[in-house]
Amino acid sequence: MNKPKVNKDLKLPTNFDELMIGGGNGVGVLATVNSGFRTFHPVFDYNKCVRCMFCWIYCPEGCIDKTTVDPESGKIMLEVDMDYCKGCGVCANECPTKCISMVKDGDDDE
Ligand code: SF4
Ligand code: SF4
Repeated sequence: MNKPKVNKDLKLPTNFDELMIGGGNGVGVLATVNSGFRTFHPVFDYNKCVRCMFCWIYCPEGCIDKTTVDPESGKIMLEVDMDYCKGCGVCANECPTKCISMVKDGDDDE
């Protein structure tokens, strides 16, 4: 997947018009991994996902990647960079189809 990279040329918004949709941060604002304090992480049920991208918009860390496409179905396969996911659950809360489950770290194969 395309992992967030620290963007040395990052230009933070200076006025309202430059804010991203949802008010979140774009990928690349984090200087270091921030998953050390996480207890839960998101797991996607792709069969129920309608690709509305609400999770991508609302994730405060910008760590949901939407660039991977399943070659068979042609559908976007959302992936989370677990180095940068803090386990806040915002994505799961905002998902309209409730296809994101917050699973306790260590309770699955990841
Ligand atoms: S749990 Fe929080 S940080 Fe992790 S992907 Fe969801 S919204 Fe982003
Ligand atoms: S919010 Fe839910 S339905 Fe929408 S793209 Fe994300 S996982 Fe899929």
